Amino acid sequence: MRQSQMLIPTLKEVPADAESASHQLLLRGGFIRQNAAGIYSYLPLGYKVIKKIETIIREEMDRIGSQELLMPAMQPAELWHESGRWDVYGPELMRLKDRHGRFFAMGATGEELVTSLVRDTLNTYKKLPMSVYQIQTKYRDEKRPRFGLLRGREFIMKDAYTFHATEESLDDAYWKMFNAYKNVFERCGLKFRAVLADSGAMGGKDTHEFQALAEIGEDTIAYSDQSDFAANLEMAPVISRETLASSETLPLEKKSGKVAESDDRLITACWFKTRTDTVLVFLKAVDEVNDVKVKNLLGTDLVEPLERESLLDALHPDDKILIFADQGLKGQKDGVFYNTAEDLTYINIDPERDLHISQFADLRFVKEGDPSPDGNGTIKFAKGIEVGQVFKLGTKYSETMGALFLDEEGKTKPLIMGCYGIGVSRTLSAICEQYHDEKGLIWPKSLAPFDIHLITVNPKNDEQLTLSEKLYSDLSDLGFEVLWDDRRERPGVKFADSELIGCPVQVVVGKKAPESIVEVGARKEQAEGRKEVAVETLSQV
Ligand code: ATP
Ligand code: MG
Ligand code: MG
Ligand code: MG
Repeated sequence: MRQSQMLIPTLKEVPADAESASHQLLLRGGFIRQNAAGIYSYLPLGYKVIKKIETIIREEMDRIGSQELLMPAMQPAELWHESGRWDVYGPELMRLKDRHGRFFAMGATGEELVTSLVRDTLNTYKKLPMSVYQIQTKYRDEKRPRFGLLRGREFIMKDAYTFHATEESLDDAYWKMFNAYKNVFERCGLKFRAVLADSGAMGGKDTHEFQALAEIGEDTIAYSDQSDFAANLEMAPVISRETLASSETLPLEKKSGKVAESDDRLITACWFKTRTDTVLVFLKAVDEVNDVKVKNLLGTDLVEPLERESLLDALHPDDKILIFADQGLKGQKDGVFYNTAEDLTYINIDPERDLHISQFADLRFVKEGDPSPDGNGTIKFAKGIEVGQVFKLGTKYSETMGALFLDEEGKTKPLIMGCYGIGVSRTLSAICEQYHDEKGLIWPKSLAPFDIHLITVNPKNDEQLTLSEKLYSDLSDLGFEVLWDDRRERPGVKFADSELIGCPVQVVVGKKAPESIVEVGARKEQAEGRKEVAVETLSQV
């Protein structure tokens, strides 16, 4: 493509409200433009990359026998009433009313739709297992849309759903999907870890997340380089108000604590001294769908010395309390606690196993550098961006929505389901977080909007123009995608734009055009890395 005719509105300045590298560079490189908070247009360059990610996803989904379909983004509210999620999904679900007064949900996810679809079309074991997927725009009215495409309110998701007669069949599909996701992210060039995650509010069983490693990430993961161990530590233990009220041992002694700030929200903290150790307790209220609502429960900036009764008074009867520590808290998994801070100790009350505070002493605490749980290697902590998740749903939706099938013995059973998501637009941003320098993006080959950036230093010069035209057509014939900067701009502007856009290879046609010599270099090596090359030998470089 000739750059003079392309819509690539690059920006010299860093946009004021773009906090993350990916957000800044995607805006500055002319890949995306914001239309409203968390809502973006993909401009030609950005959309090219999106399509490459989608192609990789389609190839990997097709390879494991998942069939592509497309369901509407606008979903009848009745389905969400049937599943019960119209009420519990909360304000994240965008809703609208048509001219007849009927309500719709803008699809935040597709379980309701797909379950209603199979209940009408699939009713015998003979058709099982069945696997379908779509790439469709999703809507979530995120409380804090931010970091550009990383947390949008309208975003592109690949969502897949599988249906089974048996748990074994679900297990088989789950691991096939898991491997397909690994392939997708590897082919995208992403540095990532597949981690065990919390199945909590979705009510499912096994689940893994695919976490792209990046400092900007909102999740914390623990992993080991020498073993397969990896876990998301987002899950904090939850106890009910009743458990707190009935607990004999809390608190024996206490200190007041300072309010910690997380994001722009206040978190109220207080320290309790228990029989076994000093623990730091953070109070949070959680809502039904596990979207943590942080409340300053005491309504003050600083926590006053706190009686258990006033703590209970501060809570709404429906509130649950998360108890955990901060400043290095990395959370807990399977009864093991992970932390980076030297001087903190953590407590846990597990509602399922009904642990009590007096049993804290039994818990294990793990720090960075400690051996990992499976006996191989040492624990490391990292920040991650959740780019995908695979999930064994079980019969949650098929039971509530009546998606049944006849098994081999003619018995009616609910379909066993799995659901699997990839954030397509989020993946694009995650790539940018990992592939950039201070001057701009540096695309991995598999996703680059163009393979080669052909830059004509002075297009008014006939020899440069003629040689560029020839190179443009020869390189295109060889199968390369070439972006040709034929614009009548100052060389400084062209090189700055080229670095922002970040095609893997730059070919510069300048003063030595009359001798058929051009400069060639990899974007990541920058200008100093460019070498003079005779045009005849270019294809070997
Ligand atoms: P998060 O924990 O970041 O809010 P999620 O767990 O709510 O994500 P899922 O319901 O698992 O998201 O959706 C599947 C995938 O969709 C996620 O793994 C993520 O890659 C992507 N995704 C979710 N929310 C957003 C968003 N607001 N903007 C962009 N991508 C998103
Ligand atoms: Mg979410
Ligand atoms: Mg999540
Ligand atoms: Mg998720």
